Amino acid sequence: MGAKLLVVEDEQALSELLTYNLEAEGYEVRTAESAEDAELLVAEEIPDLVILDWMLPVVSGIELCRRFRSRAETSALPVLMLTARGEESDRIRGLSTGADDYVVKPFSLPELLARVKAILRRAAPERVADVLTFEDIELDRAAHRVKRGERGVRLGPTEFRLLEFMMESAGRVLSRAQLLDGVWGRDAFVDERTVDVHIGRLRKSLIRGRETDLIRTVRGSGYIFGEH
Ligand code: CA
Repeated sequence: MGAKLLVVEDEQALSELLTYNLEAEGYEVRTAESAEDAELLVAEEIPDLVILDWMLPVVSGIELCRRFRSRAETSALPVLMLTARGEESDRIRGLSTGADDYVVKPFSLPELLARVKAILRRAAPERVADVLTFEDIELDRAAHRVKRGERGVRLGPTEFRLLEFMMESAGRVLSRAQLLDGVWGRDAFVDERTVDVHIGRLRKSLIRGRETDLIRTVRGSGYIFGEH
């Protein structure tokens, strides 16, 4: 069963987009349009993670986060904050908001999904599958091991994270910028050609003989895993 998420966002279009994509990942999603609604839902049932918009009418996301932190039942409730680009993002870096992590709007969905997964993994490691599989490829996060069929695949740490990120987003086109964000982190000083170099190494390690290449280059867009 998927983790239970609560999305608190007053922008309906964004809320729907998030719900659609999070449900597609197997999460159970509830939504609230205001901090007040969110508090009612949390009083009914404490979710595993709250995705919380900073800019909400009346009671802000920051204030709601503070309220969660001040109550014993929700003091450890994981919160991923959504912030607007600009002043807020600088302030949120400096301020102790009590959020576990944040993403700046407009964000890419793979980035948001990766952050949701990372927070859930930290909060409740048993909720996130240790082993990812796709066709004959098996990636064991806990043991840091990759197998293709019966063969062990040796990967460097970056190639391992790259494969993990691509397997999590299998079937979706990932731009170089999304791969940089998801694998190297937003603050890394790495240029997009580095992605190509590591994709090249990953391919080389994954393919022996007649094995299929599960990574497809999408001209002008990036890469997709698991479509051939
Ligand atoms: Ca808003």
